[in-house]
Amino acid sequence: MPTSDYQQRAQNTVSESKFSWRSILVHGPRKVTITLNRGVMHLGSQMLDFLAPPRCPITGELVHTAGDLSGAGWAQLHFLSKPRCERCGRPFELAVDEGTICGACIAAPPVFQRARAAVAYDDQSRRLIIGFKHSDRTEHALLFSRWLVRAGEEILQPGVILVPVPLHWRRTFSRRYNQAALLTRAISNLTGLAQETNLLRRHRATPPQAGLAAAARKRNVNGAFSVRDDARARIENARIVLVDDVYTTGATLSACARVLRKAGAKQVDALTVARVVKQGGSAV
Ligand SMILES: [Zn+2]
Repeated sequence: MPTSDYQQRAQNTVSESKFSWRSILVHGPRKVTITLNRGVMHLGSQMLDFLAPPRCPITGELVHTAGDLSGAGWAQLHFLSKPRCERCGRPFELAVDEGTICGACIAAPPVFQRARAAVAYDDQSRRLIIGFKHSDRTEHALLFSRWLVRAGEEILQPGVILVPVPLHWRRTFSRRYNQAALLTRAISNLTGLAQETNLLRRHRATPPQAGLAAAARKRNVNGAFSVRDDARARIENARIVLVDDVYTTGATLSACARVLRKAGAKQVDALTVARVVKQGGSAV
């Protein structure tokens, strides 16, 4: 689905949220209830803006709408674009032919078909993601989902199913939410693409990946994921887009892609908010 459709959908959502006496008269009682509820929500959101005006999560400057970045905040992030490796999305420093694959992907092709990320994983994006992941800054899901829709333009095609990388249930319980599932829901809301949050399960609580080298990361997640028995029919021949917060070595995404492909998925792509760009870089 082209980006303009997403933008139109977002525009429609904004328009529908406005209180309208005309729609009450035209559409009758059911529409009245919906319109009033949306009107109340709109008023509630205006009240919240009055009490705690929205601020840029990077610079702290006042912004027009919650989830917006200020110009200065925007300038501090390193958004990724072409030229890049067709498979893993690693940016190239020099211009290359379309479809070029990096040395790492030639040496060890990833299990997923393509991975795309919105921003480089550096001090600024790390601060945002840590807040989102560990400090209840769940409102960042809206901001990140806008970036992801743009970064994933090639892979968010009609018919794909969005699937979050799952957390082990104990970690979901202690954190109270799975950040990848929040991102998946936000992308689904923006694009209208289907989401499936119960295809995969993480049956082993793996130690945190932070600080581990590539080989250790691979060992750490090896065998940690499986598909749910009742989900096999939905996976068969499906085109799936895995969603996560950070791409470090691709080990976690590859482990998920492996079990999905084994269960019959036709294609598995991956979409993350940030990506480690420097060789040997580490993530959360
Ligand atoms: Zn590559």
